[in-house]
Amino acid sequence: MKAWRFYAFGDFRLDDVPVPVLRPGHVLAEPLCVQPSVTEAQLAFGIPTLAYARIKRRLETEAPVQLFGHEFCARIVEVGPGVIGFKPGDRIAARAKLPCGTCPLCISERGFLCRQGPVIGFDLPGCFCEIASLPECALVKVDDRISDSEAACLQSLSDSVASVQTAEIQMGDSVAIFGQGSMGLECLQIARISGAGLIITVDVREESRLISKELGADHALDPRVGDVAAAIRDLTGGNGADIVFECAGGSPKQGLAGTQTVRDAMAAVRSGGKIIGVSWFGEPFELNVDLLRERSLRYLFPDISTQAHLEHTVRLVATGRVQLRPMITHVLPGLESVPRAFEITANKGQYRAINPAQVSLKS
Ligand SMILES: [Zn+2]
Repeated sequence: MKAWRFYAFGDFRLDDVPVPVLRPGHVLAEPLCVQPSVTEAQLAFGIPTLAYARIKRRLETEAPVQLFGHEFCARIVEVGPGVIGFKPGDRIAARAKLPCGTCPLCISERGFLCRQGPVIGFDLPGCFCEIASLPECALVKVDDRISDSEAACLQSLSDSVASVQTAEIQMGDSVAIFGQGSMGLECLQIARISGAGLIITVDVREESRLISKELGADHALDPRVGDVAAAIRDLTGGNGADIVFECAGGSPKQGLAGTQTVRDAMAAVRSGGKIIGVSWFGEPFELNVDLLRERSLRYLFPDISTQAHLEHTVRLVATGRVQLRPMITHVLPGLESVPRAFEITANKGQYRAINPAQVSLKS
């Protein structure tokens, strides 16, 4: 079969490799639609971000190696011994970070806190190939009302569900969201159906602000017009928002907002309020922690998404409560398009992409 293998950062080739062996508790599946996550697209070109050291080590010791591809929709072709929840023909998506199953957290039913287990695409091969081997414990069945293209977004959506759950929104809480890329737009829609009151979003891109308004934002602000934190305080009666999601930060080289949105989030949240840090920055930066201390701010980070979060995403998209179509801006045909999808996804600002660029593999 054909599979993309990495020889070094920035050097990936479409190789002929053996079809994976079907193991107990696993399925073999044919990818229908797959997209690089932003993290994967950056790592593919050697841009420092989450898991950089781990990928560098694998490239140095194991190359050529199949990497990435944890955001996908696939169809099962064969199930291994012990698989009980799935059958050939089922369409599936998956969560990426898996519990190890043996550590003290896992055996005390707190596997969602475990960081010892494998990650699909980083430790296990993902779906930039013709046939993938996937563990049953990662999978969810995709509802018929969800397209392949939408299903490829469910993994990322499950992280947004986990992010909103971390906020523990109370009925009527005001919510501000910095960044209306795919995760920001997902957090907006999930917050809206999870009890949020006034919702204010912020993005420099006019097209993102328009989609944001269509998907339920009460106000979609352009941060280049005046003091955006002051505008949010004005709209929330002077104190600031109860909850602020920071989904915009990251390297300006990739069209992201740098670290200013963290300071803006701190200025836009009310005292005692919560900032949910969704962004990855790729490198350390300075932050005046005394400002958090002085105003009793909670700077929280999302839990790993669980099987329950992933199953909830299927419900949300199948019933139309969360819409993904408006943010899917680039769909490319065939496995040969994978390098182009990485290029667009690593530089979304330049290509005016909102969701990562998808690769459609339907024959
Ligand atoms: Zn564990």
